[in-house]
Amino acid sequence: MSALSNKSFSHNRCDEATLPFSAVAQRLKIGENMSLKQERIVIKAGTTTLTNELGNSNLHRMEELALAISDIQNMGHEVILVSSGAIAVGANKMRLQEKPRSMRMKQAAAAVGQCTNMFLYDKFFGYYDKTVAQILLNAEDITQEEKKENLTNTFDALLEHGIIPIVNENDSVSYTEIESEEKLFGDNDMLSAVVAVLCSADKLIILSDIDGFYNKDPRLYKDAVLIEQIDEINDSTYKLAGGAGSRRGTGGMRTKLQAADLATSQGIDTIVANGSNPAALYDIVKGKQIGTKFVGHKE
Ligand code: ADP
Repeated sequence: MSALSNKSFSHNRCDEATLPFSAVAQRLKIGENMSLKQERIVIKAGTTTLTNELGNSNLHRMEELALAISDIQNMGHEVILVSSGAIAVGANKMRLQEKPRSMRMKQAAAAVGQCTNMFLYDKFFGYYDKTVAQILLNAEDITQEEKKENLTNTFDALLEHGIIPIVNENDSVSYTEIESEEKLFGDNDMLSAVVAVLCSADKLIILSDIDGFYNKDPRLYKDAVLIEQIDEINDSTYKLAGGAGSRRGTGGMRTKLQAADLATSQGIDTIVANGSNPAALYDIVKGKQIGTKFVGHKE
């Protein structure tokens, strides 16, 4: 018979009477750690989070992001990163004098920049002994049933093996996103929500260039107030969301709200927070109040 089969634990450092498991667990705070249920988390970092004012890679930020995500994975969570920034980084690497305007130049810049971004991620995540994988998506990959199933299987296989998938729109191939005025993915905000739904994530965290969702655009109104929690997204919520605030931003709060709308409708809590401090991700994952939380609900 096993020494532990009587559901007690023999204390070998002193001659105390044997302790029941519950008491040992209490002493070791096992229950506390166990309550940190493993979650599947999608984190979206946009161009303004990943590049500097000149459009170059923000190396410090990327490294901090890699550290925080690696640590969160070490805590037992599964993480998928949705990353933008390829066109801006590629344009700089190609030494273009101005933002590419033609379709062919945007796609060429995306091809160059995506390569640079993945090289940097591979390096930064590699410091923390993590393996990353690149997944580039088009709208069709998500709308066609068979492709969708393959994609879900790929995500599951990567996550099961402790690999961190890094997702971006396949800008060099698909032109719908780059060219359309009403962007479907809005610098990946919507893409991150679609990925979160596809992978049945528990949480979606959208990192922005601002602290969260305000009652009006804080760049235009000094008296704007941060809203800490939104339980239901409706027409009046949409009226509060404006467009992009910075030169490098694209979707503004409108696309973040659409993303939150989709994710929360599938029961996925969505948090919009400032990407300038990736260490805040620890607190967000622990459920502390940071930025704006859109509460997930499923009919
Ligand atoms: P990113 O995707 O990198 O966060 P965006 O410029 O696309 O950058 O989106 C964030 C911007 O949205 C903010 O800098 C702000 O100017 C603008 N914005 C519009 N309406 C709001 C709002 N209600 N609350 C917060 N930001 C808003």
